[in-house]
Amino acid sequence: MAGGIDRKGARRPTGYGPKDRVLESYPPIDEWDSWTEYDPGAWPRKVKREYMIVPTVCFNCESACGLTAYVDKQTLEIRKLEGNPHHPGSRGRNCAKGPATINQINDPERILYPQRRRGPRGGGGWERVSWEHVLDTFAEKMHDAFASNRPNDVMYFVGRPGEDGFADRFLETWGCDGHNSHTNVCSSGGRAGYGFWSGTDRPSPDYANAKFTLLISAHLESGHYFNPHAQRIIESKHRGAKVAVVDPRLSNTASMADYWLPTWPGTEGALLLAIAKVLLDEDLYDHDFVRNWVNWRTYLTHRAPGTEPTFANFILELRREYGQYTPEFAEAETGVPAATVVAVAHEIAAAAPAFSSHIWRAAAAGNLHGWQITRSLWLLNVLTGSVGTEGGVSPNAWNKFIPAPWREPTANLQWNEINWPREYPLAHNEMSILYPHYLLGGRANQALLFTRVLNPVWTFPDGYSWIRALRDESRVQLHGAMTPTWSETAWWADYVLPMGHGPERHDTHSYETHAGRWLGFRQPVRRVAMEKLGQPVEFTYEANPGEVWEEGEFWIEVSWRADPDGSLGIRQYYESPYRAGEKIRLEEYYRWMFENSVPGLPAKAAAEGLEPLAYMRKYGCVEISAPGSEYAQHESLVTDTDETDIRGVEQTVTKRSFDPGHLPLTGRPDTVATVVDGVARRGFNSPSRKLELYSETLADWGWPEFATPTYARSHVHHSLINHEHGEYVLLPTYRLPTLIHTRSGNAKFLTELAHTHPLLVCPEDAERIGLATGELARVETEIGYFVIKAMVTEGIRPGVVAASHHMGRWRLKDDQGTDRWSSALVDMTEEDDRVRFRQISGVQPWKSEDSSSSKVWWSDAGVHQNITFPVHPDPVSGMHCWHQKVRVRPALPDDRYADIYVDGHRAAEVARKWESLTRPATGDLRRPIWLFRPVKPVLDAYSLPQDERTQGARSRTAGHRSSSDLAAQVDWSPAEVWGPLGTPPAAIIRRRE
Ligand code: SF4
Repeated sequence: MAGGIDRKGARRPTGYGPKDRVLESYPPIDEWDSWTEYDPGAWPRKVKREYMIVPTVCFNCESACGLTAYVDKQTLEIRKLEGNPHHPGSRGRNCAKGPATINQINDPERILYPQRRRGPRGGGGWERVSWEHVLDTFAEKMHDAFASNRPNDVMYFVGRPGEDGFADRFLETWGCDGHNSHTNVCSSGGRAGYGFWSGTDRPSPDYANAKFTLLISAHLESGHYFNPHAQRIIESKHRGAKVAVVDPRLSNTASMADYWLPTWPGTEGALLLAIAKVLLDEDLYDHDFVRNWVNWRTYLTHRAPGTEPTFANFILELRREYGQYTPEFAEAETGVPAATVVAVAHEIAAAAPAFSSHIWRAAAAGNLHGWQITRSLWLLNVLTGSVGTEGGVSPNAWNKFIPAPWREPTANLQWNEINWPREYPLAHNEMSILYPHYLLGGRANQALLFTRVLNPVWTFPDGYSWIRALRDESRVQLHGAMTPTWSETAWWADYVLPMGHGPERHDTHSYETHAGRWLGFRQPVRRVAMEKLGQPVEFTYEANPGEVWEEGEFWIEVSWRADPDGSLGIRQYYESPYRAGEKIRLEEYYRWMFENSVPGLPAKAAAEGLEPLAYMRKYGCVEISAPGSEYAQHESLVTDTDETDIRGVEQTVTKRSFDPGHLPLTGRPDTVATVVDGVARRGFNSPSRKLELYSETLADWGWPEFATPTYARSHVHHSLINHEHGEYVLLPTYRLPTLIHTRSGNAKFLTELAHTHPLLVCPEDAERIGLATGELARVETEIGYFVIKAMVTEGIRPGVVAASHHMGRWRLKDDQGTDRWSSALVDMTEEDDRVRFRQISGVQPWKSEDSSSSKVWWSDAGVHQNITFPVHPDPVSGMHCWHQKVRVRPALPDDRYADIYVDGHRAAEVARKWESLTRPATGDLRRPIWLFRPVKPVLDAYSLPQDERTQGARSRTAGHRSSSDLAAQVDWSPAEVWGPLGTPPAAIIRRRE
């Protein structure tokens, strides 16, 4: 142990012992193949263990932090997981969820072998089957669909992707528009807001160099890039930067901030636009940036036609438009004092262009019009010129890298109307929350459904509709649940297919953790160790516990079998690049990618005398560009302008022709640049290549009132909440920092750390309702209710109650289904599409091969609140609007902790009510071609069939209701639904019948 590096990558003397020794945070990489250290579990005896340290990547959130796995060379057991100091994103650090991967691997409850249902769906009968049987069964179904030109009979429905590109590729090889995802319960609202501005759907804040950071929500401790972002925000704070957090709840992040701004949920836009007004009125905006990069000429064309198109006139108009958003107006709407609004505006102006910001879930995911809150936040970055700057925010595409795979397939030819219904032409991602309603309503039938690390019965709203749809064999013929752990959804599947955790699988991925680019390589560490030790492995399930597999190999095998003679054109994409005509091995897939598609990697590898694949196996990642090298890409000069014209008031450099079979995932396929001061520059991915303050797309597709960032009432606006009737806003979206979603249920350390989620109620509301800490509250939603313990705290804004969504795991049989570390045993009683869950027992100790299970000391499994929420699809972004107007009251005499009641009829009614807000595609296209889609079909697939078009122009700007009407249209009164106070649910059922 004579070498080593500290957490900043530098060698550091210890001050103790010999002078050439250093304090080591990590073993030096040249000793990773053979590393010896004492076993801490054997203390006080000194027992040496010899490890092979294999890098991989955490799979427990989308940050993809580096991990190192310590594989015991004698037993081949993974004994612990630590950080990978060579990973540019995480830099050796992890949150609690990374090292806790060891629990998931060793969980005595985990699924070790493929399971086939015996008896009725959801009956709990399972039998072990072979992977051979599974492959043949699914391949046969796929072959039927593809050979009959019904590719969309197959649906791939993904929860946690954790990889870039592999799934998109195999769907394209199948010619299938079957990509569905959880995104509209997660981030469609955040993405849409960014997307309409710039064509790029995520921000990449350069937190480390920011002087002021504004976070909407508890992003730091619970958001998308938890550990990599958190460590960089703290770095900036150490250098004197300030942080403001907008959140109705005093989160861990807010408690560390310089400003906590507890706005009323859904009013965040009023706050942001008031800040914008201050910046405009006090001339604190960046004149050059706005003049060069905002589509202000387009703005004037629409907002002030006839006005001379000068920048001065634009600023006048903009001041006029935003003049209504005074700090006093913001105070009235949000509850944040006007003086604080002005102070934050001045902080932002002083920090610019080193002003960072972020919104992902929270307000963007909670509210009707939440995507406009995102647009309003980005407006502040635009006005202050804090875009693409050091300390500012860049489009995420600048800080992300997706390598091209071997033999790229052509785009598919068909459109999947179920995932991309014409009613939601601007939805940012698939309308996944409506899927069970489409199945139950007869709009869809699914021949083959793959759910992959997806648990909609528990994580989505309206889980009872999912249960009803999934268990109906006439609606879903064959369902394979690909999952690393049991879930409430797997319970209703036909096959449960065990897939690996982070150290049990291959993937590549790259995320915008900072202002640089990197590519991570997840690998099955036991397999890698075995192969290095001379033990060949054909399939990863031979090296993983039981027969736990990885999806990559599964997809290759099942695709190969689905096209047995190559006549469907699928098999060609699964041939080896190195062995003509033979089936590709997963290792070859990555080997080809690393040799051919990753800039700089072959040279870096060669410098160490390694092949590119060996380099990635050694480091688990490669840095593609160093921090600080990717700023201001919009200013890049574009010199290749052959066969182009300059079009429109924004002088967009436009190609005269383009390939309709290869549409870019975002941005118009025919544009290459925009002319700024006479020079063609790359710009952004928007249609004009400018930052689109005025979105012609929104106006043309039926939403002219939202063409600019504006503020409109959310469905939980305070004007719609009557406390005297027991009404409050429920915040159900926040995370607990040590939990994932479904997958922390089988991590004993994480569950021990966090296993309860009381309803947070502020003191004045608790008094009004008649609740004290520990007492049971009944929370009534539009489709049912749940019973939960209250916690009275000043950490929540008055008028708002909150409960984290992480809890409430359940199972229907004592020793089967969801892990016992985290779930309650429940009774599920149904009557005419109404259901009641009642706990039989909470978490209890049990005997297993892990002695910890008999020492479980906690009993709380929480309450499954999501199942009592109806779907709330935002009519523009498609985002499920999570926040709920609820009635809160003390529990009734018959209520028990964690009781749940849901009315399936009412769930369908509410879905229809929200669906009525849409403004469908009515012209020749289903959707704007330039808008992002994860897997884009060919241009022809965008055409609406002639006989399905509504007469008239696509633009439906006339006669629309005002935006504030939308909130009123979906409002509801608790008294109407559940009867007068005190009516027990059984009586309600009888009354309705
Ligand atoms: S933030 Fe935590 S859970 Fe997410 S990838 Fe990093 S270590 Fe894993």
